Amino acid sequence: MSEEKSEVKAIVTPTKLVYQFSAIGSHAEFLKAISEGKLVGERCPSCKKVYCPPRGICPRCGVETPEKVDIDDKGTVTTYCIVRVPSENIDLKLPYCAANILLDRSDMPIMALIQECPAEDVRIGMRVEAIWAPEEDWGPTMENIRYFRPIDEPDVPTEEMGDWY
Ligand SMILES: [Zn+2]
Repeated sequence: MSEEKSEVKAIVTPTKLVYQFSAIGSHAEFLKAISEGKLVGERCPSCKKVYCPPRGICPRCGVETPEKVDIDDKGTVTTYCIVRVPSENIDLKLPYCAANILLDRSDMPIMALIQECPAEDVRIGMRVEAIWAPEEDWGPTMENIRYFRPIDEPDVPTEEMGDWY
């Protein structure tokens, strides 16, 4: 009987995480706004940073952020990655680009897909706009924004992107 062993190179381990998020206050207002096709943020009265999605409190200053700010659905790529590895849960043509986008009037980048251009063309400072799902599909979710695409505006130099985090 052979004792030949093969090298284990990978294992499949199904995992699942189910959780329930109860939106109240700022979170609930944000989800209501996005279900109407709008983005809202909140400005900290101390450091003046604008958070979108809002947290209800500034993580830097620890104070409430009652001032509402309308946020544009255009922004600037602050960083990105090009995905070349397939995933059974993601039905996108490879390679694709996921980017952090600093929405205009916000000081906190969000993560989103960049589409309608080759992934290799995405760059830091690139101007992009949101492409929304059809209105009849809108709900209280960031999935209302399908992806972002480049717009014909000059790149923003990194030194002009501000002090975001
Ligand atoms: Zn603050």
